[in-house]
Amino acid sequence: MEILQMYINGKWVNSKNGKNIEVKNPSSGEVIATIPRGEGEDVDKAVKSAKQAFNSEAWRNVKPHERGDLLFQIAEKIKENRDELAELETADVGKPLTQGYADIDAAIRYFQFYGGAADKVMGDTIPIEDGIIDYTVREPVGVTAHIVPWNYPIQILSRSVAAAIAMGNTVVVKSAEDTPLTAMKIAQYFDELDIPDGVFNHVTGYGADAGAALSSNPLINHATFTGSVQTGTAVATAATKNVVPVTLELGGKSPNVVFSDCDNENTVEGVVKAIIQNAGQTCSAGSRLLVEESFKDEFLEKVVNRFKELSIGAGLQDKDIGPILNEKQCNRILDFLEVAKDEGKILVGGKQVTVEGYEGGFYLEPTIIDGVSPNSKLAQEEIFGPVLAVFTFKDTEEALHLANSTDYGLVTGIWTQDISRAHYLASRIDSGQVFINNYGAGGGVQMPFGGYKRSGFGREKGWIALYNYTQLKNVAIKYN
Ligand code: NAD
Repeated sequence: MEILQMYINGKWVNSKNGKNIEVKNPSSGEVIATIPRGEGEDVDKAVKSAKQAFNSEAWRNVKPHERGDLLFQIAEKIKENRDELAELETADVGKPLTQGYADIDAAIRYFQFYGGAADKVMGDTIPIEDGIIDYTVREPVGVTAHIVPWNYPIQILSRSVAAAIAMGNTVVVKSAEDTPLTAMKIAQYFDELDIPDGVFNHVTGYGADAGAALSSNPLINHATFTGSVQTGTAVATAATKNVVPVTLELGGKSPNVVFSDCDNENTVEGVVKAIIQNAGQTCSAGSRLLVEESFKDEFLEKVVNRFKELSIGAGLQDKDIGPILNEKQCNRILDFLEVAKDEGKILVGGKQVTVEGYEGGFYLEPTIIDGVSPNSKLAQEEIFGPVLAVFTFKDTEEALHLANSTDYGLVTGIWTQDISRAHYLASRIDSGQVFINNYGAGGGVQMPFGGYKRSGFGREKGWIALYNYTQLKNVAIKYN
């Protein structure tokens, strides 16, 4: 078991209170590390060091292309340690190893993409009148806080940290108490760079202590949060009290809308993958299947058959589906399944299973629920497990109504060969991303990602996310 430390002001440190948190491997339940249980004082130290680094001439003098180069160096270090990191992410989150590798590759891409962007964000010159030159500059905001969830730790850390540093900010990361291990490695890579102490800080601890202390700290200048609506609201409220902007990426109840003219095989694969990735513990999981009524039996039979073929196992066994994060999350999903039994019908799955040799893990069969009302909590709330709820529609208008019928609006998949219908729906769907005849486009580091409605606000990923980490200054010069 490894005993790990936080990284604050260029030093590896324990928490001031000397307390620790055990980190478990979800596949086996085994304790694999301990991390410091950081609290307010530790967070305060990290934020102050980030502020000091931000105000230092040493950091200000790092040219934009040099900041880009630092990010490329991190990308290279991740690449060099790809196997180790993929296994670590798999051990920490429980995800199948192939998905662990995909996450590491995405992290590399984030550091490369934002490394390349560091010297390419420009302002405007604005016509005012003869004798006045007016221009805008995008300046860094200062200290940016990054509160990371447990489901995609390295990816979610990388996407916002790389963008923030590219724009010249300094950062404090609070990783999820359950899955902090790859963040420790990223901290180590930053430690190996030739940069001022305090540019990158990593604190660990529980959300209610370390997370709350970070989001309410008056010295932070921006907070990026990914996680539940409830916690996101708390983070935004705390930040607002200090007039600090936030970017919130919250949950989803994303639909795949399937018409009878779809390309069958491709659609079945897309629908299945969208819900089983990371055992459904994904904000953008395709957790609702909306299928044209006349096509339901034929299509659903194929999806059910695919579900029956799916394998379940420990992360390193690299099956289709890994464990649920922990007992609490598993029980939460099982509670939803009890409602499903009362209100509708479970077509496949629905039970907890044990995996030989990994009896301490919490594994669930991939499950399809049919016959529940579109108003049911099964249709409305994020289950965060490998559970797909099925609904039918008669025509395009009803499909649109159902697709938009939750409080969320993160991602929508549309499966049809009718280009007019696809475009019409894309224009009417309330969600931040719409995919037509695919779901996710392979991850897409370049594509803006974020929610409509309660799925959050602000956008992560892509070029636009750079602007989260800048503030715009207008300069007007009068000359004779
Ligand atoms: P959470 O939203 O409570 O935690 C996410 C992060 O916020 C963690 O780092 C946590 O330590 C921190 N945090 C918790 N309370 C905080 C507070 N008061 N102030 C600041 N930071 C705080 O998520 P969870 O408890 O890990 O999971 C609960 C549910 O959230 C899940 O079942 C799922 O529905 C949802 N979730 C969604 C996503 C997503 O990607 N959208 C990710 C994780 C969890």
